[in-house]
Amino acid sequence: MITTNQLYYQDNQLREFEAHVVSIEPSERGFRVILDQTAFFPEGGGQPADRGTLSGIEVLDVQIESDHIVHYLKQKPSGNTVTGILDWDHRFHSMQQHTGQHIISAAFWAENRSKTASVHLGKAYTTIEFETESMTRAEMRAGERLANRIIGQNLPVSVLYPSADELKNMTLRRPTNKTEHVRLVLIGEVDCVACGGVHCSRTGEVGLVKVIAHEKIRGNTRLIFKIGGDAYADYDLKNQIMSELRTELNVQDQHLLERVQQLEHSLVESTRSLHVLEQKLARNMAEYIYAGREQDHELPFDWVVFFFEQEEERLIKEIAKELLKREQVACCLINRYTDHYTWTLTESERVSIPFVELRERLFERTRAKGGGRAPMWQGIGPDPHQAEVFGQTIRQLLQEYCPR
Ligand SMILES: [Zn+2]
Repeated sequence: MITTNQLYYQDNQLREFEAHVVSIEPSERGFRVILDQTAFFPEGGGQPADRGTLSGIEVLDVQIESDHIVHYLKQKPSGNTVTGILDWDHRFHSMQQHTGQHIISAAFWAENRSKTASVHLGKAYTTIEFETESMTRAEMRAGERLANRIIGQNLPVSVLYPSADELKNMTLRRPTNKTEHVRLVLIGEVDCVACGGVHCSRTGEVGLVKVIAHEKIRGNTRLIFKIGGDAYADYDLKNQIMSELRTELNVQDQHLLERVQQLEHSLVESTRSLHVLEQKLARNMAEYIYAGREQDHELPFDWVVFFFEQEEERLIKEIAKELLKREQVACCLINRYTDHYTWTLTESERVSIPFVELRERLFERTRAKGGGRAPMWQGIGPDPHQAEVFGQTIRQLLQEYCPR
């Protein structure tokens, strides 16, 4: 039995209150403050703890601990009395989520006989897991529609403490094992369930509920909802996105999906033909580069260095792959940008560059970096004006490491 007077049960709209301090003690989580009464709802039953201040000091957390409601404060309050002020936006959000969840659970039970298995009241959305392996779109819509009808009817949300006898004759949506001090929360005549949370006074305060996604989990179906202010904010955001898409694609809402599918299709087609052209270009470029190779008498293979200016890296890689198809040739393809360059070194069949051995000296002399493994190594260099030096250095090192 909780000894702190729970003001939030007497008046769910109470935002400010005075209370006497019963005890204050320091703890690892801040100062533990127990009051004779409080409007701060402690975390429980899936509902988060209220936020706000006690005499201007931030309340970090509120928990039930051995029959007391404990407020954790950032600093120690002075005096024997405190003034509590709730963060009302936070509390109202919690009440909307919680009441919305009762309404949704009642509606899905009434429409589809889908039983609520578990609930998570979140900051950005609320999830409800139903004891059903699958749910059709029509079932989701029916449950959602009924929930919004219950909201529109603006039914009273009331609390009842029945005697054990009275409780026996009542039908609860979710049975309870308790027989005494059971707190029932009723929504008009459509729902009755035991609950210790704080709720809105009427269903109209919930405003709106909307399913935004669904997933299967542990053989159940979990629906993700936007409730109340969150649903409005979500609608606002989606409307904004739709409006921008409408302008961007120059179509009405009902044709948007079709238009996006057309664009997707044409993108696939364009990508395919671009790839074909790229391949052809790579083949021709490789042919051209290979024709200009040096038959170096100091190297046991042909040697090619070629410079590009801000070329597509993907194309260079394709060219390198084409060059690999030749025999006994090593190539260095260098791509110059305004503030750096990239390098690609490749070897064809019957060439074996000892890259690991020459790597350290190459990087030391050119300040370039990179790696890879045969037949292709890639990297970058810091200064585009040193790109030719990189080509010369690697050639010198090859002469040294791969004598004829
Ligand atoms: Zn509740």
